[in-house]
Amino acid sequence: MKTRRAIFPGSFDPLTNGHLDIIKRSSPLFDEIIIAVLNNPDKNPMFSVEERCEMIADILPAIGGNGCKLVVDSFSGLTADFALEKNAGAIVRGIRAVSDYEYELRMALMNRRLQPDIETVFLMAAEEYSYVSSALMKQVFTLGGRVEGLVPESIERKMREKLGT
Ligand code: ADP
Repeated sequence: MKTRRAIFPGSFDPLTNGHLDIIKRSSPLFDEIIIAVLNNPDKNPMFSVEERCEMIADILPAIGGNGCKLVVDSFSGLTADFALEKNAGAIVRGIRAVSDYEYELRMALMNRRLQPDIETVFLMAAEEYSYVSSALMKQVFTLGGRVEGLVPESIERKMREKLGT
């Protein structure tokens, strides 16, 4: 039988509980999900791609995946090209609010044009994480606010180390 493989692309700078929720909820739909960390140096990330991959790899065993293999990888360039290279049939994305929708729609249509056989699959964000973004987590954390319960504990620790707090 053909492996149902998907990629879940993103910046993951850093991974939040919102991302984790999407990974957990999409895992029953696929045999394998590649969490694909985008190498985007011009975004001035808090964590390097290597750090982000390592942080995600540390967390994945605890999620398990329930029969779905969860792996982490990094990529540069077009998401559609990476999906094709990995022989993935789907691109998983999360939608939090109407504000995500327009951007995600444009990306999905462009990706379909680039790779018509690769389907984008959207999952609605969990209510409790619908306002959670990596950017907001970094902003609040940098200003001394608490992000407990919104990012995994190991990630919060790394954020603290990074800021030397
Ligand atoms: P990008 O820079 O590609 O938007 P992100 O790491 O911000 O990368 O997000 C990756 C994917 O995860 C996107 O589809 C985004 O909408 C989704 N996502 C981010 N945060 C959440 C959340 N709290 N709940 C559900 N989906 C989310």
